[in-house]
Amino acid sequence: MTETAKPLTMDTIVSLCRRRGFVFPSSEIYGGIGSTYDYGHYGVLTKNNIRSLWFRAMVQERDDIVALDSAIILNPRVWEASGHVAGFTDPLVDCRTCKLRFRADQLDLASCGRKPSKHPGETPDCDLTEPRQFNLMFETHVGALQDESSAAYLRPETAQGIFINFKNVAQLARRKPPFGIAQVGKSFRNEITPGNFLFRLREFEQMEMEYFVPPPEADEWHRYWIEARRRWYLDLGLRDENLRVREHDADERSHYSLATSDLEYLYPIGWQELEGVANRGEYDLTQHTRESGTKLEWIDPDGTRYTPYVIEPAVSIDRIMLAFLCDAYDEEVVGDRERVVLRLHPRVAPVKAAILPLVPRDDGMAGRARALYEELRRYHQVEHDDSGQIGRRYRRQDEIGTPWAFTVDDQTLEDETVTVRDRDSLAQERLPIGGVREWLDDALQQDWSSPHSH
Ligand code: ATP
Repeated sequence: MTETAKPLTMDTIVSLCRRRGFVFPSSEIYGGIGSTYDYGHYGVLTKNNIRSLWFRAMVQERDDIVALDSAIILNPRVWEASGHVAGFTDPLVDCRTCKLRFRADQLDLASCGRKPSKHPGETPDCDLTEPRQFNLMFETHVGALQDESSAAYLRPETAQGIFINFKNVAQLARRKPPFGIAQVGKSFRNEITPGNFLFRLREFEQMEMEYFVPPPEADEWHRYWIEARRRWYLDLGLRDENLRVREHDADERSHYSLATSDLEYLYPIGWQELEGVANRGEYDLTQHTRESGTKLEWIDPDGTRYTPYVIEPAVSIDRIMLAFLCDAYDEEVVGDRERVVLRLHPRVAPVKAAILPLVPRDDGMAGRARALYEELRRYHQVEHDDSGQIGRRYRRQDEIGTPWAFTVDDQTLEDETVTVRDRDSLAQERLPIGGVREWLDDALQQDWSSPHSH
């Protein structure tokens, strides 16, 4: 095997996602709509895996965190109280020459409108205005009237739905701080700098967990969650050298944050925020107490009252998926042929195994492969493929990151064994057909690390 190492570009990932049906530009037949994507079959499967792995780590395997699913459109006063109406803004500049708009603090990530494209402000012809603040919330109207009184917002984060339910959950969940509330759902931001594929979307699926703690314990829990989230990525195979923790300077923190550390991933566009872990202090509960008149505080059995501090790990499935795809992408030459392979962690991979009859027109092979497929699909997402040359079928599976292929061949007809082919090492071994299910269950439980880890 020969590595064909060249720097990975976003275009390579975009075209693989398109070619293999992970992600399509949204509304494509109408010319698309900026920074919005539709997920195809393998994209949906991968997203489902990421969501359930997160949920498992954050809720299922813990005693101290419960789930919530709040509405997308909340009473607009929520966003006034939270500070989003006044402060959820990015600095915007216009270019008088190319007529495009850019985020003033991220000019290095944007391309100017002229050819050859440069970063805005890079050439003498660029004529940028002074920055002005632009609110990222999408506005809509609720009910039949379309005036100021009916104005509402699509949520720009899921967190506020959690804070406004603090009392409901704290009363019913029979937990005391430290305890957390986790939520997964769509969030919407009218981002200024489009582009960069799944990294910056106008509609994305956020996964946030608000962890309510006694104030003196906040720093300790902040450190705990930074490390817990970092571990989660490493356990799912993300390479250590592509992941780092970066603490925000005081001037980059959001309006609510006492301290924030980002988990950054080395995307093809450079080191960028994958997940933020913020110490939001008592900001949100205090604001909602003041504005709603409902006391959002904790009362200990001995009568002591306090407003818990909040530690928040926040991420989107979309940014995680992009990081996993970039980390997994590989090209190599095997024999005299090049292959593209996604070395995804088996638990992240959209399809866990392919079942392939070597000669599909052979009834013995076809029948056994189909039966094996029908057995396995009751437990795992697997695929049956009987069209085309076997080499081509393996390559298709490599490109979507399927960790194993079970091939039914001549020898199966003699001794009821199949070959199992490993996506990463290309090693092949034989297994009794009756033992495949157990083998696959077991393989999915094993630790996995990228063959390229240092
Ligand atoms: P940025 O500085 O990149 O705009 P942010 O600091 O505003 O991000 P947060 O408000 O901390 O982002 O959002 C928490 C998480 O939600 C981010 O770490 C990221 O994983 C995800 N996220 C935020 N905005 C987007 C977006 N436009 N597209 C995809 N994911 C997003």
